[in-house]
Amino acid sequence: MTAAGLQPGRSPAPVRLPDPAILFRRRADRLRRLAPGHPLSAWLEFVALLSEAQHALAAAPLSAPATPEAQWRRDLDSLRDRLRGALPTPAAEALDSLPWTDADALDGLAARLTTGTLLPDDLTAAPFVAGALQVAWTRHAGGLKASDIAAPATAVTCPVCGGAPVAGVIHAGSDVSGLRYLHCGLCHTAWHHVRSACVACGEGNRIGLRTVEGMDGPARAETCDACGSHLKLLLAEKAPDLDPIADDLASFALDVLVGDGGYAPIGRNPFLAQAG
Ligand SMILES: [Zn+2]
Ligand SMILES: [Zn+2]
Repeated sequence: MTAAGLQPGRSPAPVRLPDPAILFRRRADRLRRLAPGHPLSAWLEFVALLSEAQHALAAAPLSAPATPEAQWRRDLDSLRDRLRGALPTPAAEALDSLPWTDADALDGLAARLTTGTLLPDDLTAAPFVAGALQVAWTRHAGGLKASDIAAPATAVTCPVCGGAPVAGVIHAGSDVSGLRYLHCGLCHTAWHHVRSACVACGEGNRIGLRTVEGMDGPARAETCDACGSHLKLLLAEKAPDLDPIADDLASFALDVLVGDGGYAPIGRNPFLAQAG
């Protein structure tokens, strides 16, 4: 059987690795284009500021390379130095409220963030921890060789860091046109996933695509009536400059719509829990 989006005799690259030198700057630009007039504009502007600080760190080589697990807290310190003085008051207070001298508390917060088990008290500090984890893991992923990474075409979690996808992207142009890649919200690796099957259960016959009436842009919600889950789908042909994190945040209304319909999310955006 030929999966939708595949052509006979053609094998898609199973994995696409991120470029840490440009990814965060492009995200900041995309967020600034999406923010004006948006119901979450202040939040989108805040994540844009954070993305700019992330860019400054991720684009510079490390003087002493370390594993992402060891590196992320150093990146958190550097993020604090870059953001101090640049944030509006509530965000500056949130930054100061982090348990800066308690490594166990920071590690606990990072673990809850990556497993989707944040506590209510974590929410104000979580975006900064997410920002530092993204820098460390994206730098790591960007230094790998795609051909060394095995990713089955039905993988639900990231083949590099084990994280959940933010969303699927239907790519346009070049050699990946029409293919779906799932995009990791932590290390920003993308891995190919067949389009014709639900990401959670593999069922192909009970999938629907939903949108919010009157909402334009590249986002759709793929719902599965076999397992009751949903995943954001972003169409690059509608917005060639889309960024999975930014466009997932900006289409929050779609999550509310399908959540009200009883569908459970497969994807996880590290900046969504705090947005509301
Ligand atoms: Zn990942
Ligand atoms: Zn399903």
